[in-house]
Amino acid sequence: MSESLQDIQAQVRLCIRCSGAGYPIQGPPIFSGTAAARLMIVGQAPGRAEVSETLRPFSGSAGARLFRWLKQAGFDQCDIREQHYISSITKCFPGANASGRGDRAPTRAEQRFCSEWLEAEVTLVDPEVILPVGKLAIERFFGKGFKLVDLIGNRFQVDGRIFIPFPHPSGASSWIQQSEHQKLIRQAINQLAQAKMEFDL
Ligand code: SF4
Repeated sequence: MSESLQDIQAQVRLCIRCSGAGYPIQGPPIFSGTAAARLMIVGQAPGRAEVSETLRPFSGSAGARLFRWLKQAGFDQCDIREQHYISSITKCFPGANASGRGDRAPTRAEQRFCSEWLEAEVTLVDPEVILPVGKLAIERFFGKGFKLVDLIGNRFQVDGRIFIPFPHPSGASSWIQQSEHQKLIRQAINQLAQAKMEFDL
């Protein structure tokens, strides 16, 4: 690939694939970090706070929980934002869901539209460790049909990279509230802490 990460980011900022297909997304696309990152975090999609206030990934309440987990693994939020890379399966805010009480999950079509951008980011950043956060991000790398309980708390090596999956940190997630799942989250945090030491992240 002859394009740089900045070239790709410029194209993403101009992307209208989803709105052009009639999806009620709200921009701008959200991502952050450096091409020199050795750790990449991949979430589902930005939320309202990210697109209307901060223009930074994971800056709402779910992000606060994710950064608490990362802090327990030894990562400082500023360091993560400055030295590593954060992106998502779809980079524009999908809007509210039908109930109005949460965010709409991106459709399969929107995920397909945006997959080229994520693929380019992964190729150009070339991180040693990837944290897929939430079911959609985990599906992107592990395929469908898995159970979160079989993945969270473990680390995997795929195509020379380490993957440490995390559940979606939304407070609306009943999965993360269950005590047996909290044990798996602690294991995932330990896996990340170990990778941090091992790869000097
Ligand atoms: S979500 Fe991705 S594919 Fe859709 S408009 Fe935004 S950048 Fe383009």
